[in-house]
Amino acid sequence: MLDAIQKVEERIQRACARSGRSRNEVTLVAVSKTFPAESIKKAYEAGLRIFGESRAQEFKSKVIGLPDDIEWHFIGHLQSNKIKYVLPHVHLLHSIDSLALAEAASRYAQKHGLSVSVLMEINTSGEKAKYGFSPQEAADAFLKMNDMQGIVLKGFMTIAPFVSDEKKIRASFQLLRRIKEEVSRFTAPENTAELSMGMSADFETAIEEGSTIVRVGTAIFGSREVQ
Ligand SMILES: *Cc1c(COP(=O)(O)O)cnc(C)c1O
Repeated sequence: MLDAIQKVEERIQRACARSGRSRNEVTLVAVSKTFPAESIKKAYEAGLRIFGESRAQEFKSKVIGLPDDIEWHFIGHLQSNKIKYVLPHVHLLHSIDSLALAEAASRYAQKHGLSVSVLMEINTSGEKAKYGFSPQEAADAFLKMNDMQGIVLKGFMTIAPFVSDEKKIRASFQLLRRIKEEVSRFTAPENTAELSMGMSADFETAIEEGSTIVRVGTAIFGSREVQ
């Protein structure tokens, strides 16, 4: 585990150096989905404090029983009826993928006196199986969500297409950055500051294209038996 984490850390540092960025511009989220709490404990002992989960019930059951100083991120598709498992514990919800979910999150947050930081998920690859707003509707939807009480927009998230063609992957990240640049003309800089992009296979490309948060699972925890 320690070895794997060190390798990821070195890859992040090299990608930052290559693109003239400082290491502290990029946050590493260790994606622990499907792995048991024991694995998170090991990564925690190796020094990691930021973990990402993608299933609501699994998220909730792991949060209970793990150290309080873990910063939890939620990165998966969230159904409105499962908001209650996630919102009370989440530092950043990466996956607001519809206005209906944003409204439900806003209602829950107001009712419970929370202020929840969120990212808007964009389907930059156009793949039908992916969740997220289309690039065309992003700006309008962003401004609507920006007016909702209880949720605080911090930026954007995307998942690159699962292809080997690096050009297509890079194009997906570039599109997310262009959306950020467009939207940032209409809102305060802190609302569009974060770009959550890059996974085990493509986080170096993402860093070169301006990622501020990389979500890395396999390269830290090993391969998952189930998705
Ligand atoms: C699983 C997952 C990751 C991590 O993927 P790896 O390829 O294992 O690094 C990142 N982001 C999202 C949204 C995921 O569901």
